[in-house]
Amino acid sequence: MLDDTHRFLDLATGRLGLDENVQKQVKKANAEHIFKIDLDNGKSFNAYRVQHNNQRGPYKGGIRYHQNVTLDEVKTLATLMSFKTAAVGLPLGGGKGGIEVNPRELSAEELEELTRKYVRGLHQHIGPDQDVPAPDVNTNSTIIDWMVDEYEQLTGDTSRASFTGKSIPNGGSLGRDAATGRGGVLSLIEWLTLEGNGEKPLTYAVQGFGNVGSFFAATVAEMRPDWTLVAASDSQGAVYNADGFDADVLQQFKDSKGRFTDYKQGKQITNEELIALDVDVLVLAGLEDAVSKENMKAVKAKYLVEMANSPVTFDAHEYLGDKGHVLVPDIIANAGGVIVSYLEWVQNRADEKWSKDKVNQRLAKYMKSATNDLYDYVTENHVGMKEAGFVLALKKLYE
Ligand code: GLU
Repeated sequence: MLDDTHRFLDLATGRLGLDENVQKQVKKANAEHIFKIDLDNGKSFNAYRVQHNNQRGPYKGGIRYHQNVTLDEVKTLATLMSFKTAAVGLPLGGGKGGIEVNPRELSAEELEELTRKYVRGLHQHIGPDQDVPAPDVNTNSTIIDWMVDEYEQLTGDTSRASFTGKSIPNGGSLGRDAATGRGGVLSLIEWLTLEGNGEKPLTYAVQGFGNVGSFFAATVAEMRPDWTLVAASDSQGAVYNADGFDADVLQQFKDSKGRFTDYKQGKQITNEELIALDVDVLVLAGLEDAVSKENMKAVKAKYLVEMANSPVTFDAHEYLGDKGHVLVPDIIANAGGVIVSYLEWVQNRADEKWSKDKVNQRLAKYMKSATNDLYDYVTENHVGMKEAGFVLALKKLYE
């Protein structure tokens, strides 16, 4: 994944004619914090926070809890954050954190201890003006609330602007939970409109119907009830229904801790079959590398939306781009989360609470503007969308 991101960066830096020093600088993180977290019961975990670039503002990015977290992965994701915040025009930098842990194997008490100890290991390097973490894969507002509390106890900072993605009573922003999914829909609709295809009813499939994918579907149901959700997957399996699923019903099923392998209201299919479905839009909201050399030739969807970070590998990007598929790149498609994180941070600092409408309006403005810039650059320069996204970000970061 790190290699793939670097290949995209090389393309983009090459296109801009940036010299070798800048090319090296782009790939290097400013700081890497690596430590071990030891629980009282003897269990031990590797923990990371990588701070990539803070030229435009404090480092910003989530913390993921996953058994496959590595330093390389966190570095890549931190780099992507710097590009994401720049691409959509936020006054923030990029960072990322992670703990190599399967949170499902921990008790609630262990999870809280792990979370608080993560903050203890890191508190000197983060803060409202320095580095503002947020949720990512397998982390949520409960975990962030523990982090804020621990941070307050350690530093005395009561602004709550030290983390975003908090629960609403604890200083979170309305609209933050849905923001990543919502932002992806806004970007896709904007792109389709610019292409002159904004009015068509579409079919779509969601790979990874979790925090992001389910809100993507809920937003489609709200904004484009003429679109049909024909399939959805989780890490175990997928379900298909040509007549369409109700996004709310699927979400309720998932919330009750359901797995799609137990869902009876549709046909069971595999994740690979979902990737290969003959739909208009394939929403990739799971983890990285979901579409790669192995399965890229099976993809039939005209539009792919990268709602996860880096779900399409470099090779698959090149292949699908050449075949005329449209790939809305992650650093714009999934920027809704960090955009509303930014709005949360602004609200915390001004001691304000905005309505959901106000938050959503601002989110829409950022998403539309970034998508328009992307469209203009792609059509004027005849380059792939991912490369264009990186170029636009690089221009803001280094030119
Ligand atoms: N984890 C999210 C991302 O990858 C959100 C980061 C944030 O809100 O800071 O964009």
